[in-house]
Amino acid sequence: MKIAIASGKGGTGKTTVSLNLALSLSDVQLFDCDVEEPNCNLFLGFGLEKVEDVVCPVPVINQEKCSICRQCSDFCRYNALAALPDRILFFPSLCHGCGGCAVLCSEKAIRESERSLGVIEKAKGESSPEFYRGLLNIGETMTSAVIKTLKKYVDDRKTAILDAPPGTACPVIASIGDVDYCVLVTESTPFGFHDLRLAVDVVRSLKVPFGVVINRWGLGDSRVEEYCKAEGISILLKIPNNLKIAELYSRGIPFVQEMPEWNEKFRGMFEAIKLQLADTEEART
Ligand code: SF4
Ligand code: SF4
Repeated sequence: MKIAIASGKGGTGKTTVSLNLALSLSDVQLFDCDVEEPNCNLFLGFGLEKVEDVVCPVPVINQEKCSICRQCSDFCRYNALAALPDRILFFPSLCHGCGGCAVLCSEKAIRESERSLGVIEKAKGESSPEFYRGLLNIGETMTSAVIKTLKKYVDDRKTAILDAPPGTACPVIASIGDVDYCVLVTESTPFGFHDLRLAVDVVRSLKVPFGVVINRWGLGDSRVEEYCKAEGISILLKIPNNLKIAELYSRGIPFVQEMPEWNEKFRGMFEAIKLQLADTEEART
């Protein structure tokens, strides 16, 4: 089962929930899909090894063969190719590696090469949880390509927890689009409430079953809870605005490790997710 942990905005506790849930379960994989800024391993401290380079095919143009027919530059919807009177210019950072220009070129003036986008790393040896992360090259924009490569390492026989990037843009869709369930982490502040509603719109349009975790519960007001009640959204867990939890976070310690009573609460949340999925399945049949 694939469970994504997402949020409409950064800083709500998405990584906290991912880590503590993964550490409370057995036979679990944890994926840090926040490839622009992966931070799960700051809390886990695993030694990491590279398992794959993520590359994108890019065109190399043989200017001598090129007849400047402009077919490739007219075709490229990302404006990565521009026709000058005497040659074709290529802008690698705009290329999405679709390969269309090479297929189109009747002069066979385009061959494909590779551009590095980032790497996939995993925890060395036998780790618990089994941990993978993607790391996007600095200045690179092809975030979703790294996330899609990272997700190839999901083992369908295990529970996979995917710590998604924040927000509601393409990298989030790449992370949560095909999961079985999405946990939306929010906080009961005006910003949390606003961004939760955006995130709910996204998961509903993707038709992904979901529930909500309220982090730093006790801050702000009751609008998040009232909204969830009115919308029939399950609140899976409330993590209180607690000084000890905040202190452990600041020391890089997932709080289930020092507050063992929370293991049971996270396992209860996992059981609630399974129950909700079973009910959804039953309603479909
Ligand atoms: S399609 Fe081929 S021949 Fe035409 S402009 Fe592009 S590279 Fe040159
Ligand atoms: S591979 Fe696709 S995106 Fe890249 S330059 Fe060619 S047509 Fe444009």
